[in-house]
Amino acid sequence: VDGERAPGDGVEDKAENQLRPQTLADFTGQKAVRENLSVFIQAAKARGEAMDHTLFYGPPGLGKTTLAQIMARELGVNFRATSGPVIAKAGDLAALLTNLEPRDVLFIDEIHRLNPAVEEFLYPAMEDYQMDLIIGEGPAARSVRIDLAPFTLVAATTRAGLITRPLRERFGIPLHLQFYTEDELTSIVSRGGRVLDMPLDEGGAREIARRSRGTPRVAGRLLRRVRDFASVAGATVIDISAADDALRRLDVDDRGLDLMDRRYLKCMAENYGGGPVGVETLAAALANERDVLEEVVEPFLIQQGLVQRTPRGRMLTVQGWRYIGMEAPRSVEA
Ligand code: ADP
Repeated sequence: VDGERAPGDGVEDKAENQLRPQTLADFTGQKAVRENLSVFIQAAKARGEAMDHTLFYGPPGLGKTTLAQIMARELGVNFRATSGPVIAKAGDLAALLTNLEPRDVLFIDEIHRLNPAVEEFLYPAMEDYQMDLIIGEGPAARSVRIDLAPFTLVAATTRAGLITRPLRERFGIPLHLQFYTEDELTSIVSRGGRVLDMPLDEGGAREIARRSRGTPRVAGRLLRRVRDFASVAGATVIDISAADDALRRLDVDDRGLDLMDRRYLKCMAENYGGGPVGVETLAAALANERDVLEEVVEPFLIQQGLVQRTPRGRMLTVQGWRYIGMEAPRSVEA
């Protein structure tokens, strides 16, 4: 999981951009989301209006940023991007908003980390394309209303639960991204192989796909690492055995769990009897951030049925115990 989002890692960012699909037709998976978006994009274009504000939510690396870029391209408008924590004050947001041209897409990543004052400032902008700015200070201060170009706010979050209700209700189009299936990831990996001009057969692509935690970003990263191993080993084509060999060295196990995933499961079993244990406690024990556990590690382990979230804390399931090769205590229900 280490490096899942590696912010500021220019090399990885560049490599990621290289693999980014450019059109909706090129975008694999998320069928329902794609179909809905396609309709809404066509409708907005036909009316010549700004598309409705759109909220993407789901775990990191599933294509939220990619879809936002595709929306702008298909709408034929500019794409401006920022992120929640970067917008420190209302003035920063005002600067962004006043620079938009009609129907532009403004993308705000990690919208759940917007500061509340900025968030309130965003409401009238989203609703009426207006904002109230305070000019001056003290008794001389006055409020001026500024009209904005109609725009589309596209926001992304890994934590839909942390978004306030008034904000959530201002998005006409909420879209939930899901983990990808093995077949979908296999075509994503095959396409990646073609883009990167590497010899990869169907078996090799499927092996990487199967072990990518249902996540295209992970698939892309593994694909690049497998290429490194294969080229050093002098392999002419990356087949299932070359892929398996490289993935093993990367400590990605047969089911796609990495070192962090396994440490998490073992820590629960060995230190806390399989839970229930709070996420803060686990984060401290693993010397990791709570956010990383909640946003990156747990969603996949829960989806795999290895861990359960209960009101009293996290618990290992019977499959979770079995996975790390230990016997579940009798109290754990099958
Ligand atoms: P998010 O914003 O959800 O964290 P991104 O849109 O940045 O995820 O996608 C992460 C990486 O995965 C990018 O390199 C992107 O090209 C790739 N990716 C995401 N979704 C797809 C997809 N459906 N098909 C191919 N590549 C994808």
